[in-house]
Formats: sequence, C-alpha cells, structure tokens
Amino acid sequence: MKFGGTSVGDANCIQRATTIIETTAAQRPVVVVVSAMSGVTNRLVNAAQRAEQGEQDFISPLIVDLHTQHITALESLIANNARRAQTASAIREVLAELERLLRGTAMLRELTPRALDAISGIGERLSAPLVAAAVNALGVQAVAISATELIVSDPHHGRAEPLMGPTKNRATARLKPLLDQRIVPIVTGFIAATPEGVQTTLGRGGSDYSATILGAALDAQETVIWTDVDGVKTADPRLVPGAQTIPEISYNEAAELAYFGAKVLHPNTLRPVTAAGVPVWIRNSFKPENLGTKITAKGNSTGGGVKALTAIKDVTMITVGGPGIVGLPDVLARSFAATASTRSNVFLVSQSSSQNDICFVISSADEKRALAALREAFAPEIAEQTVEHVNTNPDVAIVAAVGENMRGIPGVAGRTFTALGRENVNIMAIAQGSSEYNISLVVEKSAMQRALTALHHEFRLSEFLVTTKG
Ligand code: ASP
Ligand code: MG
Repeated sequence: MKFGGTSVGDANCIQRATTIIETTAAQRPVVVVVSAMSGVTNRLVNAAQRAEQGEQDFISPLIVDLHTQHITALESLIANNARRAQTASAIREVLAELERLLRGTAMLRELTPRALDAISGIGERLSAPLVAAAVNALGVQAVAISATELIVSDPHHGRAEPLMGPTKNRATARLKPLLDQRIVPIVTGFIAATPEGVQTTLGRGGSDYSATILGAALDAQETVIWTDVDGVKTADPRLVPGAQTIPEISYNEAAELAYFGAKVLHPNTLRPVTAAGVPVWIRNSFKPENLGTKITAKGNSTGGGVKALTAIKDVTMITVGGPGIVGLPDVLARSFAATASTRSNVFLVSQSSSQNDICFVISSADEKRALAALREAFAPEIAEQTVEHVNTNPDVAIVAAVGENMRGIPGVAGRTFTALGRENVNIMAIAQGSSEYNISLVVEKSAMQRALTALHHEFRLSEFLVTTKG
C-alpha cells in the first residue's frame, strides 16, 4: 500500500493512514510505501536551487521549520515519551544531513543531479520513521526502511529506472523475513539506489512507481495507491458534473488516461505490474469506505466501448503545409526531427491522405522553440514556396475518448462525430492509434467542455455503478 503526500500531510491524515494499515495488517502481510508530507518535496527542490545560487541564510530557518512540522505531528501521534525520543532523534539526524547537503551546495554553488536527488529525497526519509512510529503506537509492529536498501536503479538521476532483477532479490531478502514475523515495513517512496549504493530518485510523483515496483518484486496479491481522490473518473468532475468513479479499468486504459493528462498516477506506475499481472487499486484515504478503482489486465470492458474521457487544454496545433509538400518524401521525418531537437512533447499527429498538410499537437510550453526549429528546418522550402506555411493555433484542446473495448465495436467513431455535430462542436483534426484504445479529437478550446459533456452523455458514462463497501 502506498500513501501519498496528502494522505500523510499532518497528524490527522497519518492517523487515518495508520488505521487503514492496522486493519489491513490484521488480515494479511502488508508493505507500506510513503511519500513525503505534502509540500515538503517542493520546498526541498526549491531549497536546493537557492543553495545553488550561493544563498545560505534560508537554511537554518528551513531546518527549524521542517523539524517543527515533523515533531508536531510526532507529538500528537505518540504518547509514549521514550518512543517519541527515538523517532525524534532519527528525524534530527536526517535533518542534520540535509543541512550539510545544502551548505555544501551553497559553498560550491553547484547543484549536480546527484546532489539534487540526495536533497529532494529527504522528505520520504523524514516521513517514513514518523509513520512507522505511529503504526507502532497502535500496537502493530512496524519498522522504517529506506528504499535504497530495496530498489536498485540505473544511475539516471532525477528519473531513474529500476533494475527489476536485483530489486527482486534485495526486496525479497530484506522484506520477506519481516513479513513472516508480521512486522510492517514502512518504506520511503520516491528514492532508490544504484548497484554502487548512490541514491537516486524515480522522478516527481515517483512514490506510486515505488509501490508498483515493490508490488511486482514481491509478487504481491495487489497494490493499493491511497490518495486524495476516489479513483479514476469517467471525466474530470470539475468539467463534467456527472462524472463517476470507474470501478474497474485495464492497465492500457489507465496508462492512456495518464498520458492524456489525468493526473492520478506517475506515468510509469503501471509498467512493473502489467508484466506481473498484479492488480492496482486507486483509493481515497479520506473515504476508505469507498472501493475506488481497480486496475487489471482485462479491465472489465463496458458495453459502449468508451470508458473515460480526458481533455488537455494547454496545447497548440501546428500545421506544416502547402501544395508542394505532396512530393516531399521527408516532411514527416524533418518535422519530427525538429520537434525532437527541442524535446517537444507531441501528443497527436494527423495527416490526410492527400498529404496537403500534416498537423500535430504539442504542449503550449514547447510552442516557441518547436516553431522556430520547424521554420528553420523548412527555410529553403518556405523560400521556394514548396512549403507554404508553418502555422500554429493555440486556441485548441484535445479531447480523447478512451476504452480498450472500442476495438471491434463498430460505430464508436460515428457516435462520437454525431454527438459532437449535434452540439455544433467543430472537429479540427482526428487521430486514432491502431491499438484503438482511444480516439483523440482536436477541437476549439472554447468547445472543450461542451464536447466532453456531449460525449459523456452519448456514451452513458454517468451510469457506472458507484461501488461502496458495506
Ligand atoms: N515526494 C515526491 C514528490 O513530491 C514523490 C511523491 O510524492 O510521489 O514528487
Ligand atoms: Mg506526491
């Protein structure tokens, strides 16, 4: 089970989390992964950047602040003085290390990716002993463990990937004996270590990934991600009031949704468990009576084929076109060489068979750089007018309908277009991958919400059963 930052955000939240841990541990062996208390990682990253500028004045107040935050929680969670003292000194030791790291960075005015990982991973090293102490206080044996002892990763700092073989060996050797004795390991999320023992991080939001890595390594029956939302929704409830929690969804569908902006999971989260077939639950630690969403291989396909909708609005559509591009065999290659050279994130590509123009949609944040690179790449053709334009349109949004069962159900595209036509939503471009897990449409930004509402209604997405335990 993994508890995210908001689920361990203060003493009350930790109390809720420990109750869930206690109930589960009474039934079967459980490994717990925790994030840093909410906001802590952001402060650490920010501190690292200030230290890089040579600033030192902020360091002592920051250490005092973090100390207060964690000790306050500790004091309200643990009555026993001796127990408290032990955990408090563990917390102080980690904070002393943080101080040395920040002062060292400030002195050198250099922040290597390795140092940034050491600094940004401190939050989990503070929260794990705290949560372990709180679980112990309930009379359930628990011990804080650093994931650097368990998850072996490559040395790609800031975005390390696990080496599953060695991870399986280490995690099993270290955790199985504890589980056999019914001791609950409370593991730091987010961090890992190279085979040489150098600490890395798995990328922001990486505690989800930590949980599924360990779930796969230990052959868990299931992995539960406890967070602050009810699960995966049929659409963003702020945009579509009738949006429901989806009871069951497939790995592919969930990954597609994560890619298209549903910010429930770290994008790599499902990778380790997809291979191992371990089901993943997304559940709300503030409403544990709700079952949440179960992510499985099959995903319990629903009748209409479409399971959920997503939308991304901070995007720009770029078209490269003109009659002359018909005869140019390398337009695609050169276009994407240009977007790749600027590391632009391309969400969607579409080209009509007349080949009169190609269009693709990228993050708005990448627009300026991508456009400059494209104009440069096609400068000769623009001069000769074989390519007549490289244009951008920032007033667009992508709306995507996702569902693995769309494959093989004819008419999903037809219903999509009819529903949008009825609502007068102009479709500017379309893409459907050959996997048929999703149909993506480019619409005007102003029509995004109308499009979502129309499709939600068309595919009867409000009719999912709301599953509530007990
Ligand atoms: N604490 C880390 C972060 O904020 C990891 C996580 O929360 O999953 O990115
Ligand atoms: Mg988090």
